[in-house]
Amino acid sequence: MYIILLMLIFFSLYLPDFKSLQPVQPINQPHRRHGLVITHPDDESMFFKPLLSNLSLIQKQEVHILCISAEDDNIRKAELLKACEVFGILPERVHLVEEQSHNWNIIAIQKHVEEFVREHDIQVVYTFDKQGVSGHLHHIAIHYGTVNVVKSLGIEGYELESTNMFRKYMGMLDIPISKLLVPKGGRIYVCKNLLLSIKAMQSHPSQFVWYRKLFICFSRYSYCNTFKPIVHSYV
Ligand SMILES: [Zn+2]
Repeated sequence: MYIILLMLIFFSLYLPDFKSLQPVQPINQPHRRHGLVITHPDDESMFFKPLLSNLSLIQKQEVHILCISAEDDNIRKAELLKACEVFGILPERVHLVEEQSHNWNIIAIQKHVEEFVREHDIQVVYTFDKQGVSGHLHHIAIHYGTVNVVKSLGIEGYELESTNMFRKYMGMLDIPISKLLVPKGGRIYVCKNLLLSIKAMQSHPSQFVWYRKLFICFSRYSYCNTFKPIVHSYV
């Protein structure tokens, strides 16, 4: 058991990215417009930091964020803009819409996502998978709304893989496991810079309570994002 743990620590910290093993996101990909769909104005920092740091800060890609929120809260909106600055995302590329439909009607969500994609000519979309990482109903709703848009417009889309509870809290130690388990046609983004996660979450002082501080330190989502492709043919 200890040997396995030590090996995981070694591979997590010291082994260079062995990207040739899997179809990992190429570093020098052509310039494209990427759109991330979230629902809470801290999802980007809690769950998608490896994606955003790689796409925006390293690859200098154009990244837009659509936040479909159930509440109209100016404090949280301002916090989202500040957190996006940490990832080098310009305020004009952060789009907030309010959704008050009963039970978060999927058609209403879909309409927001479709407008976002069309208006900003988004070429690649990212969001939660159907488990929504935390199982939050709004995460799941934006998954289904986004999947419908990806399929109807025929664009490229990816969903953030939810892992089991054990892997979820393995932090950096999950990196080597994730690299071996990248889904076919999927992508993996790694960022070991914990300070960046802390800086992004510090932009959300109204939300940065003790259990979120623990989450940021120990969750794999602070270090690694694995994405499954949204397949156009399945229902
Ligand atoms: Zn959330």
